[in-house]
Amino acid sequence: MESAAVNNYCNNKSSNENDVVSWFEGVSENAGWVQIQTLRRILELNHGTEYLKKWFKDIEIEEVEGCALEALYTSLVPLSTHADIEPLIQRVADGDTAPVLTQQPVTTLSLSSGTTEGRQKYVPFTRHSAQTTLQIFRLAAAYISRVYPTKEGGRILEFIYSSKQYKTKGGLTVGTATTHYYNSQEFKIKQEKTKSFTCSPKEVISSGDYKQSTYCHLLLGLLLSDQVEFITSTFAYSIVQAFTAFEELWKELCIDIREGTLSTTRIKLPKLRKSVLDIISPDPNLASKIEVNCKELEDLDWFGLIPKIWPNAKYVYSIMTGSMQPYLKKLRHYAKDLPLVSADYGSTESWIGANLDPCLPPERVTFAVIPTFSYFEFIPLYRRKQNCNKVSDDFIEEEPIPLSQVKVGQEYEIVLTTFTGLYRYRLGDVVEVAGFHNGTPKLNFICRRKLLLTVNIDKNTEKDLQIVVEKGSELLTSKAKAELVDFTSHADVGNQPGHYVIYWEIKGEAEERVLKDCCREMDASFVDHGYVVSRRTNSIGPLELCIVERGTFKKILDYFIGNGAALSQFKTPRCTTNQVILKILNVCTTKRFHSTAYDQIKEQINTI
Ligand code: AMP
Repeated sequence: MESAAVNNYCNNKSSNENDVVSWFEGVSENAGWVQIQTLRRILELNHGTEYLKKWFKDIEIEEVEGCALEALYTSLVPLSTHADIEPLIQRVADGDTAPVLTQQPVTTLSLSSGTTEGRQKYVPFTRHSAQTTLQIFRLAAAYISRVYPTKEGGRILEFIYSSKQYKTKGGLTVGTATTHYYNSQEFKIKQEKTKSFTCSPKEVISSGDYKQSTYCHLLLGLLLSDQVEFITSTFAYSIVQAFTAFEELWKELCIDIREGTLSTTRIKLPKLRKSVLDIISPDPNLASKIEVNCKELEDLDWFGLIPKIWPNAKYVYSIMTGSMQPYLKKLRHYAKDLPLVSADYGSTESWIGANLDPCLPPERVTFAVIPTFSYFEFIPLYRRKQNCNKVSDDFIEEEPIPLSQVKVGQEYEIVLTTFTGLYRYRLGDVVEVAGFHNGTPKLNFICRRKLLLTVNIDKNTEKDLQIVVEKGSELLTSKAKAELVDFTSHADVGNQPGHYVIYWEIKGEAEERVLKDCCREMDASFVDHGYVVSRRTNSIGPLELCIVERGTFKKILDYFIGNGAALSQFKTPRCTTNQVILKILNVCTTKRFHSTAYDQIKEQINTI
């Protein structure tokens, strides 16, 4: 669509908002029925593909009625994982034009972030993927503007980053899903429809060098500071990353603002330089104002940075749940009283749900499933009984159920059937049903299922680890002038007995005594029965806390970016077995502590 057509397509802002809200009210009212229609559309569109033919043989789905279609589909087609379909996607990537997974030829592949499982995965991307992104963004924007209205024509300071795109052997374009979206017409349409425009031109978003992009995002965000209505990124990590950089860069940024220049030491890419130099001009008054503010902020350790520098910003918007929760504290520090609005829930494979309660603090946010985006199934999960010694898995599973049958309070793993050729695909996310919006469930994100610390009979999820680290870091901030910057963990089973290692990067000074207490506190805070029993009997050794030098987690980020990850999708792996990352962590460790949490119990056992 050309930009004239984009303009025609865009109506009045509030009628747009009403349209998208009433559309969602309608589809969520009859979510169970809409899901069956969605499944039917997916199966009709992809009827006769190699994958479906294998399971459906010659059955004509047109003749199968509503609920019977769901039952037939789930009885014939097995659950799948990425490993099952990887060879098929690889054939498509290599140029096989036969209808393998979809009838429509796939021309684009997305890369999942890979930061949670250590390896990036190819996922088909189609026009439908970009359209659902636009639809969920519009829906979220409509709900947000009801409580935090923004000025039409205002600016968004967006810390967004495309990754490099490349071609596969078969000529398909590969990049992250966010990259494809930023390059799509839908990204343009979203700005027009919501009447809010990003500060940075596309050359800044797609420079491919996140440090240079961050500098330019900040510079343009400062130059337009009076017009900025809200600040956003895909994941909260990127906002924290950008403002941490700002603490170092503000003096240089002020020189560029005063003189209308662009630092030659910071910004080297010619295309990027040209695109920014074309739109900036000297503004000495603004530079002086920012300098005064920054000097004040420096004394406050940058508390309230966002409202001070961007006085018209109404809120900060980003994914703040799941593995982003640890960055909330820092985000609140920068945002002071400005509302933090937690963004929607999705994956490279499919968007899943929208946050319809923007006022809720990120800790309490739920996501209403959008029943037109994919066909969703839910595998009921039950935590293993405390005295169960079986190590094979973390949860007991039951048969998957459709969206219409989920129950409040129950945990599930999500299964997707998408328009892009994934059939009964296990996403690997654990969610809990927190309630309903009309007939569609509202989900609470719990954790990635496979991200797990385990040595023997113990099992601790990402969420368990997060809780424990929070307790340790509370102690750190209350007893020392220091804060936790980032963390990860590793189950060391190479030495006997195996034990957990938690790596901390901290800012500020902390005495050894305090760090020892933090280590002990974390060890004692794991409540998993398997862990507690194993610690008591010393079949798991004392928890080890490693303090790494400043900048270590930046090295980890650079390692992932160097391997093709995009900053927009980056999530620090909270538990790792990746040898390169472990090497970085161990080389950068400056102090090690071993927990004494269970020492007394061991002494008691020995005396008995
Ligand atoms: P990606 O590999 O970039 O496709 O990441 C997708 C994964 O990020 C999902 O499967 C979730 O585990 C996580 N994720 C996405 N959105 C959210 C959210 N709103 N809250 C928590 N985790 C999320």
